Parts: sequence; structure tokens; C-alpha cells
Amino acid sequence: MRYFASHFLQPTDYLLLYESHMVSQFPDWIRRPWASGGVMAATQDVLKDLGLHTVCRSARCPNQSECWGRRTATFMLLGENCTRNCTFCAVGHGPTAVIEPDEPVRVAEAARRLGLAHVVVTSVTRDDLPDGGAAHFAMTVGAIRAACPGVRVEVLVPDFRGDEASVRTVLASSPDVFGHNIETVARLHPAARDPRCSYMRSIAVLRLAADLAPETIVKSSLMAGLGESELEVRQTFGDLRAAGCTAVCVGQYLQPGPRQRPVEQFVPIEAFKRYETWAYAMGFSFAMAGPFVRSSYHADQVWTDHAAPERSVAAARGI
Ligand code: SF4
Repeated sequence: MRYFASHFLQPTDYLLLYESHMVSQFPDWIRRPWASGGVMAATQDVLKDLGLHTVCRSARCPNQSECWGRRTATFMLLGENCTRNCTFCAVGHGPTAVIEPDEPVRVAEAARRLGLAHVVVTSVTRDDLPDGGAAHFAMTVGAIRAACPGVRVEVLVPDFRGDEASVRTVLASSPDVFGHNIETVARLHPAARDPRCSYMRSIAVLRLAADLAPETIVKSSLMAGLGESELEVRQTFGDLRAAGCTAVCVGQYLQPGPRQRPVEQFVPIEAFKRYETWAYAMGFSFAMAGPFVRSSYHADQVWTDHAAPERSVAAARGI
């Protein structure tokens, strides 16, 4: 799975990598100031107090202050070590965390204290758990619903080894958005992902969610810059739409460190604009593509775009 788990550095880190020749090029449009300030400090205090991790912080996501300012945050459940090893991803691979039964309640309390309007919950892949962590996801959705009535909840789940019961367990908690990332195009999957991941399995998980919960927004994301062609991105959009996905995000892959795959290309802004236009024309009701777009970037907007389909039409026409 993952929240573009490759994005574990902020732009200033990339400048250092660039200088040490780890990353071959770093165009101007990938630079972004690293924000700090009141909302950041206040959020960090709450997270520290409750012993929680957010992808926003763990990944040092450059969108952090913007998202937190929009009252959106992405919480990481089930520890920080993954049982898989994708070649673009820099998450840890040590011993997996013991499940903390009170973690769902702590996440809900954080959402309440922070006054979040849209909460995203995700996790590393936990092949060591019989249900892959599905019940923990469901409990977290339930706890957020109980503590914060009216808050929208988005899950970004691993593939659960394709296990239908796990997908059903998560959907039974009625998340507003069910997300699972396809990550890259079909041709690059074998090289980019852990052997236990598969393009077709991810498509099947998304299809299952769309079939089982037609009222739920089904969302996926992929990285650009791993060596894919624009045609392959378009084909992936087609596969996602055929599976029932209605929301899609595309962002620039940034090499997290020297051990991960290098960036094959920095995708120009015009190509990202094309991706958005294509996605809307293919029937997605939410599409966001750009260098800094991540799985949960402007996650709350999924909702408003579904409620305002005229934006989709305008975007499809390139307006
Ligand atoms: S499954 Fe792959 S992409 Fe997802 S967290 Fe694990 S190693 Fe990273």
C-alpha cells in the first residue's frame, strides 16, 4: 500500500541529495518552502501527548502545514514497520508493532482535539496479522465517528493479500472514502513493488470495494516519474475506472534515499494537467495531479467535487 510512502523527505533534503549526486536533477517546480508555525506546533503537541504518528509528519510531507491548516490529517496505524519491501519506499522493516487496543480511541481523541473535518487513517502492510489489520481500521473509523460526529473518515488500506473478508470488515465500518493505492503502472509493478504486491490484486481490491459499497467513494493514487509513459498512465486510469474507482491522484515520485529507486523523470506541470483532464474525461469525479500531490493531498476536496460535478465537466473540457 501506501501513502506515497516514497515521500519521506522534504524539498530541502532533496537539495542535499542533489548536491551529493544521489538524485540526478532537481527542477525548480519541485522546490517548496518548508512551513512551520502555530498550527504545526499545536498539532505536534497533540500527537506527542497521545503517542500517535501521522504520515504527514513521519514522511515529512511538504504539504503538511497546508493540510493541517485545512483541518485534514493522515494518521498511521499499526506501527511504522512494514512486512513488505517495495523498491521506492523508505518505511522501516524491523519487528512489527504489537497492536495497541486503545490506538483507535487515541486517534479519535486527536481528531476531536484538533477539530479535524476530514481524517485519513492508513497503515503499513501487516502480512503478519491474520486480517491484515482490517479490524483495527474498522475500530478506528468507529471511534472517530463516536467522538467526532459529522467528521468525514477516509481509509487508505493495504491490499490485505486480496482477502475479501478483510475488505468487508473495513467497509462494514462505513468509511466515507475507501482508498487503496495502485502506486504505479502495470509494467513497472514487478520491479517497483514487493513480490507480494500485484497490479491485478490491487485492481481487484478496488473493484471489490466498489461492488460491496457503491455509496462509498473509492480512490486510488499513483506516482509519476518511475519510468512510466503517459499512455500507461492513461491505461491505468482506464483500469481504475473499470474497477469502479471515482477518485484518483497522481504525484511526482521523489527518491527517499540512496537505497530506493532513482527518479526516472521529473514530470512537467503540463503532463500533470493532462492527467487531470484525462481523468475527468474518463469519468472520475475527483482527480488531482501535480508535483506535490500525495494520496491524501486536499483529501477533503474529494467530497466537494463529488457534490459539485460541474467542476469535473469543466476540467474534462480543459477549462
Ligand atoms: S507495502 Fe510497499 S509501499 Fe507499502 S509501506 Fe510497505 S514497503 Fe512501503
